[in-house]
Amino acid sequence: MSYTTQMNAARKGIVTGAMETVAKKENMPIETLMDRMAKGTIAVPVNKNHTVIDPEGVGEGLRTKVNVNLGISKDCRDLEVEMAKVRAAVAMKAEAIMDLSCFGKTQEFRNRVIAECPAMIGTVPMYDAVGFYDKNLKDISVDEFFRVVERHAADGVDFATIHAGLNRATAEKIKRNDRLTGVVSRGGSLLYTWMMLNDAENPFYEHYDRLLEICTKYDLTLSLGDGCRPGSINDSTDAAQVEELITLGELTKRAWEQDVQVMIEGPGHMAMDEIAGNMMMEKRLCHGAPFYVLGPLVTDVAPGYDHITSAIGGAIAAANGADFLCYVTPAEHLRLPDLEDMKEGIIATRIAAHAADIAKKIPGARNWDNAMSKARADLDWEGMFSLAMDPVKARSYRESSKPEFEDSCTMCGKMCAVRNMKRVHEGKDIQLND
Ligand code: SF4
Repeated sequence: MSYTTQMNAARKGIVTGAMETVAKKENMPIETLMDRMAKGTIAVPVNKNHTVIDPEGVGEGLRTKVNVNLGISKDCRDLEVEMAKVRAAVAMKAEAIMDLSCFGKTQEFRNRVIAECPAMIGTVPMYDAVGFYDKNLKDISVDEFFRVVERHAADGVDFATIHAGLNRATAEKIKRNDRLTGVVSRGGSLLYTWMMLNDAENPFYEHYDRLLEICTKYDLTLSLGDGCRPGSINDSTDAAQVEELITLGELTKRAWEQDVQVMIEGPGHMAMDEIAGNMMMEKRLCHGAPFYVLGPLVTDVAPGYDHITSAIGGAIAAANGADFLCYVTPAEHLRLPDLEDMKEGIIATRIAAHAADIAKKIPGARNWDNAMSKARADLDWEGMFSLAMDPVKARSYRESSKPEFEDSCTMCGKMCAVRNMKRVHEGKDIQLND
């Protein structure tokens, strides 16, 4: 029996290789996985042309996934540097890479990533449209926008961010709302500008069925973008954000009617006390579709440390239902991240994702912590390094400060509680004064 998309296969009861891989990785019965894929609460973004992919699932009951943004820009356009980031991100267990290249010949880099990278690959075709046609934004036609989306889909992109919910009604809310930071979504701001300059409706909203046809043809998962995501804690949960979310819920249903997989993108910047409510609102308004959040950054005052502000928000978001975290690096708001920024961002986001998975009671999530605790109680340093989220950093800290006794560290030395408890239980004497 043939199928178009992974969702279509799930609805027809066809077990695909991607489903088998995800079910095995997640320790989830394949029937449960397929049932949730058929309903839309799990997406398995696998483009038919991304042949080297190692599939992952995003959604209900699955481990929280982590995305890494990278790509060339006008100021940083070295393909080799960005390819090194791709390899490092995969080695650090990021499940997705978003190529946000926005300058020059992006297709060359995109094709290299797709040919080599086993992680899910996402793009924002809107970023590419201006460079692709080398035209003023205002002069890009509706057909040209769709051609860029189809180019990305044909190249093998697994999920594409499309700000289809940013329609004229939402644009009106933006104009009337008293925001501190306006529209901070790059793709959203480009679309908003195009709509205003041409006095036209959002082409991806107006011709949404055309978008769905492309998605079906290549099994491109729609990542419905939040053009109105708050760019400051002052602007969160306002009418523009909620209006767009309601529209995204309607577009989700229309996509599912065509067997197109959907993820919903979310905030942004948001105070901690609003996060759980926002996660509930997304799941309700968007019918349980997987939720993909950038942050949320829980305070605006820590440039240089926004991997921490976003990890705090990401952990709360994922514990309350978000399924997919976009990493944020210490360079956020300041510059394009370098390799070290990227590593810091990945680790911070993976910590948030794993902490949430424990709270979400994802099967097996606690086993990792229990193994680490056992190694710690045994003062098994090699065991601790191999289990560490960042083994390299853990080892380098230990090696940078040598203790008098191997079964302790330089923090407490002979007063090491773990060492002394171990020794006393083994019937050994404890000498603290010699
Ligand atoms: S010396 Fe102190 S910090 Fe170090 S392992 Fe022992 S109890 Fe822990």
